[in-house]
Amino acid sequence: MLHPNLSLNEKGHLTIGGMDAVELAAQYGTPAYIIDEDMVRQNCRTYRSAMAKYFGGNSRPLYASKALSCTGMYHLVREEGLGIDCVSGGELFTAKTAGFPAGRIYFHGNNKTDRDLCDALDMGVGTIVVDHEDELRALAALAAERGIRQRILLRISPGIDPHTHRAISTGSVDSKFGRAIETGQARAIVAEALSLPSLELVGLHCHIGSQIFDIDPFVDAARIMTAFLGELKRDLGFDCRKLNLGGGFGVRYTEFDPVIDYADAIRRMAEVVHTLCAENKIHVPDILLEPGRSLVAAAGTTLYTVGSVKEIPGFKCYVSVDGGMPDNPRYALYGSRYTALIANRAGEEKTETVTIAGRCCESGDLIGEEMPLQPARRGDILAVLSTGAYNYSMASNYNRIPRPPVIFVAGGRTTLAVRRETYRDIVALDQL
Ligand SMILES: *Cc1c(COP(=O)(O)O)cnc(C)c1O
Repeated sequence: MLHPNLSLNEKGHLTIGGMDAVELAAQYGTPAYIIDEDMVRQNCRTYRSAMAKYFGGNSRPLYASKALSCTGMYHLVREEGLGIDCVSGGELFTAKTAGFPAGRIYFHGNNKTDRDLCDALDMGVGTIVVDHEDELRALAALAAERGIRQRILLRISPGIDPHTHRAISTGSVDSKFGRAIETGQARAIVAEALSLPSLELVGLHCHIGSQIFDIDPFVDAARIMTAFLGELKRDLGFDCRKLNLGGGFGVRYTEFDPVIDYADAIRRMAEVVHTLCAENKIHVPDILLEPGRSLVAAAGTTLYTVGSVKEIPGFKCYVSVDGGMPDNPRYALYGSRYTALIANRAGEEKTETVTIAGRCCESGDLIGEEMPLQPARRGDILAVLSTGAYNYSMASNYNRIPRPPVIFVAGGRTTLAVRRETYRDIVALDQL
């Protein structure tokens, strides 16, 4: 199987963390997102221990919570001792509702509104990652009004093209995020931040993109950022205490994707940071990383019920499911590839090649094309793997389809993390 937590039982059914997927579908209905909580915890521990080993005790992974944001996830990562990154007022509010300690929140965004900034200040968010000068000035004024000194990082673009999909590449000079070293704007914003008494500049941040398998761009980013810190120390006397190198490690969606050794990638990044700090005679800052996808994607599986199976002779076979782009828009957005299987006959060979379609009135509403699958029949349970990240968090109510529930499984037990939306929920905001 694609992930170590997936297996087959004696009935030939798919199991997720030891639990029968067909029984989960019967209990919770479909579509449903199943999250293997034990696997998420294991991933959190891998990051924590590798970072402590190679970067030292004050280094910490921050869960990039846009990957899967719900109160249950904030409880879980809090228990695992991670910080979090939030990118909107809604994520901040969700974290706050879960009782997540505000001091361990990093607040991101390339265009935070004044309302966002006020909310963040008023809830005591530990660190705000400032994107550009306008925001820097607005935040400085709002913090001064409140008589506080707000901790900040500055978002810097190291000028790296990590060879991932254009829509999820974020570290190039012309990115909409942050300020680039190459243009001199990064240095200018550092100088300005240091001059503002209501802001405490504790360090820098970069994030080069997402779903990246090649470790070299991460190492390059670490090198470029650390060399830049040397320059800032020499020219501006700036002592960087925190260096946040973002997220972006790839995960396996299909058998063709490589397996990444995250601990080894962290080791390589640490090596270059230490070398460059020594060369530049600066203290090694605490390193932060922001994994999102690599903590939760592989732990998630979406279960659907197969409806129509439509063969078009000489063309293709459509297997339609009771979900689609509203619960997983990633194929429509990026052409993302997935692995699917029939959960109730998971031991059978995948002899067919099919297009898995959703039920929206859109031809682009597909989960994938040219997907190997066991022969499918109406009523089968179809499992799509690696859907823990950017599925529930990107879900919509397009076609007024209610969003599926999120179910955590751990140690042979299930917990409902998010209940299924109802039609009443769908009309709840309508006023006329
Ligand atoms: C999205 C994002 C992440 C997480 O990226 P993954 O690919 O999910 O690991 C981390 N940091 C920032 C600033 C992001 O925008």
